[in-house]
Order: sequence, then C-alpha cells, then structure tokens
Amino acid sequence: MKLDDFPKDIQLHLIPRPTGDLVYRCLECGAEYDISQLLYTCPKCKGLFLLEDKAADRLKAHPGIFWRRLFDYRKMLNIPALKGVFLFYELIAPVIPLTDIIYLGEGHTPQVAANDALREEVGRAFYFKNDGQNPSASFKDRGMAAALSYLNFLAKQPGAGKMLAICASTGDTSAAAALYSAYLGKQIASAVLLPHGKVTPQQLAQPLGSGARVLEVPGVFDDCMKVVENLADNYQVALLNSKNSWRIRGQESYAYEIAQYFDYDLQKKVIAVPIGNAGNITAIMQGFLRLLDLGVIEELPRVLGVQSRHANPVFRYYLEPDKAKRVFKPVTVQPSVAQAAMIGAPVSMPRVIRLAEEYTRRAGADAVTVVEVTEQEIMDSMLLANRHGHIACTQGGESLAGFRAAIKAGLLSPEEVGVLDATAHHLKFIGFQQMYFDNTFPPEFEVTPKPEYQNRPQLLTPQTGDPEKKTQDLASQIAALLNLTPKG
Ligand SMILES: *Cc1c(COP(=O)(O)O)cnc(C)c1O
Ligand SMILES: [Zn+2]
Repeated sequence: MKLDDFPKDIQLHLIPRPTGDLVYRCLECGAEYDISQLLYTCPKCKGLFLLEDKAADRLKAHPGIFWRRLFDYRKMLNIPALKGVFLFYELIAPVIPLTDIIYLGEGHTPQVAANDALREEVGRAFYFKNDGQNPSASFKDRGMAAALSYLNFLAKQPGAGKMLAICASTGDTSAAAALYSAYLGKQIASAVLLPHGKVTPQQLAQPLGSGARVLEVPGVFDDCMKVVENLADNYQVALLNSKNSWRIRGQESYAYEIAQYFDYDLQKKVIAVPIGNAGNITAIMQGFLRLLDLGVIEELPRVLGVQSRHANPVFRYYLEPDKAKRVFKPVTVQPSVAQAAMIGAPVSMPRVIRLAEEYTRRAGADAVTVVEVTEQEIMDSMLLANRHGHIACTQGGESLAGFRAAIKAGLLSPEEVGVLDATAHHLKFIGFQQMYFDNTFPPEFEVTPKPEYQNRPQLLTPQTGDPEKKTQDLASQIAALLNLTPKG
C-alpha cells in the first residue's frame, strides 16, 4: 500500500527513524559500553551483554494500542528493509538507518495448526511455527539479519576497513552467517568453525556454497566455541555467535510475530523451544517481556524449554527447586539427533537465569519450565508430526516431544495451546530420518525404530523388455500392489 493511503496518524510513524540510544550493558557488573566498538563480553569482568535502549522511555509515550496498530499497518508497507524482522524496527535495533538494513526474506514464518488427528494424538491444540522457512532454513537468519545489518552500518563509518566475521556453529549459525556475509559482498569476509563430522552434509554444503572459509575442528561445538572466543579476544574479528547481542535482538522477532499472530492475546499460550546455546530462549523471553513493558500484550505466555537427555545442562540446573541452591554445571554431551542443540556449556546461560527470574517474577513460578526428553521421543515426535503434514526437523521434533512430556507430567491445563518452534527445515537433518528408516543408528543414540514410522521406496522391475508393453506392465504391477479397482 502507498504511504498516502494509510490513516494520517499512522503515516507519521510508519517509516521509522534511528532514534534509539543503544549501549552494551554488562549483565554481571552493570558497566555500559558504546556500540561503535566490536564488543562481545565485558572487558572488565568478562560478563555477557544485552543491548539496552537508554531512550526506551520514548516508546512508552505511546500506549500499547498504538504499537499494535503500527505493526499491523506496517505489514502492508512495501519497503524491503521493513519486510523482515525490522517490521518491529523500534524494538530491534533503532540505530541502524533503513538504507543499511539487509533483507533476504527472513522472518514472518508460517504458524501451522496441527490437524484434528495430530491434535487428538497429542492431546492438545498446537501450532508449529516453521522457522525452517527462513532463507538459510533455520531461525538463525533472524539474528543474522540484525547482526549483519549492524556490521553493514559500522563498515560505512570512516576508517572501518574490511571486516572478517567469524563464528563457531553446530551448523545453522554458519549457514546463516555465510549467507548474509555473501550478500554484503566485499566489505565482509566470513570464516566458520565447525566440529568435524558433527554437522549434517546439508549444513556443511551451505557455507561452502556461500563462499565462506570453512574450518573444521576435531571435537564438538563446545571445543569450536573456545577457539572462536580466543580469536575474538585477541584479534580484530566480528564474532557472530549468539554472544553477539545484536543477534539476540533480531531473534526477539520470533516473539513479536507470535504476539501479532494471536492479535496480541497470549492468554493460555505455551511457547515450546529447544535449548542449545540458549540464545533463542533468551531472545524469546526478552521479546515477550519487552512487549509486556510497552503494553502491547497484557499477559506473558508460558515458556517451555526442551533439552535432550544427551545434552541437558539447563534442565539439570532447574531441577533444583531452591533458587539459592542452584549451581550451573556444564555437561559432556552424548550424540544427539537434535544435533543443533547438542551443547554442554551454553554461552547464554547467564542471560537465561536472569531473564527467567524476571519472567517468573511477573508471570508466576510456573511461567518458565525446562523439560528433558529422550532421543527416541525426539525421533518419534518428528516423524509423527511430519506424517501429519509438517516439516519439522529433529529439533522441531524435540519441541513436540517436550510439549508431550509437559502434558504427560500434568504441567499444562486442558485449554492451553502450544506454539512449537520448528527451528530448522526438515531437509537439513534428513540423515537422521534415513537412519531411522534403515535402522542404522549407532547404539549410543539409543533409538529403536518403530515399524509404523518406517518407510522405504519400492523398486519395480518391468517383466518385459518390449518398450511398448513396459508401461502397461508397470501399471498392472502397481494396480495389484495398491489394490486398485478397475474402472466400470
Ligand atoms: C541453533 C539451533 C538450536 C538451538 O538454539 P540456541 O539458541 O542455541 O539455544 C535449535 N535448533 C536449531 C535448528 C538450531 O539451528
Ligand atoms: Zn562487566
């Protein structure tokens, strides 16, 4: 829609200007730092940052209804910079000029309702929000759109020079980083560190195809992360892991979209999300809190974090009911089909602890729950979902497995409706489905295929060499196999 055709009071605000005052705020010592530097942890105390808008009160000058109308009308505006996660510009990074925003089609992913059969099987109404329908096929694109738009903005400042963006990854962060860096072109080169043999062939192919330097490290993600941290501490590089607080900002859009989908009424909603490095759950909690602060929503939805038993440090932390007695201990991970969440020492844990405290303070002690599930439950849930028309990856299966575990444990009331994060596209993790179908899981995964979920192609052999008769022969074989009834 053309600008002139919007209501007059909306026109004024439709195209936002960079009026924010963002600083890095250390979560440990409270120190603040200028965003003109590439900083990831506090130089004083090594604490993690969140980005804080010191001018946030200007947003509170408008009531919640104003923001709801603005965001809803903005959906009709055809300006590419505002088509993706920056639809919620004022809440994401209101310091980046629109001309520096990179939009590759991220965000606004579909929320697909479970059909009747699936709803009955699971015992509750729920949706999958398909974040696998982002450009590099995972939710990581939300954060990269923000982080790379910021780098693009920074690169245009005098004396900035060429930048090297670097990240460690369980596969999807590197795919997203490489894609957005490739779009930016000459100014930014990208290098990604992957745990050798611990990403899927599809995930490995993505950064290679985008032209990134791909460096493989023996070990697991946690080993790669240590190397990248060392590089970020000692060299001029732009770190694109979720330590990067711009990424968290971009990922908050997931919460904003859910709120918008439900017309800002989040009563009786449960948001299920797999936890790996814990950036995503951080962003989701922060996003909903921000909406509550502005009066855009009146109620916080419940947040249900899900971990595999093979990589469950966050679950273990919250097992202790007494807050004062909780101690965070990293775990050594075991092989997991939810490979993108196979992390023993989640970088964002301090953010989670802090935000979960704030969240439960405002929405009640049961507003944040972390459950654990087995590898078997993850695979079975993924296959169950996809047999009902979804495109969940193994981590999406983990979300459903966690939702089912919460129902079984009596944690959810009958009216509560789930929104389950299908964090990546099914096809990225297709090898695990194949292992299930072929019954070739190595024993450490502890997955035994259920025959009712297995599926195989069946090769037909023509019984004749005569090309004329071959079609008829194959058709007859298929008619017999499928029990087809001849026409009248
Ligand atoms: C990164 C990732 C996760 C884990 O998200 P965190 O922010 O690290 O907790 C889950 N699923 C997929 C597909 C991912 O790429
Ligand atoms: Zn500090």
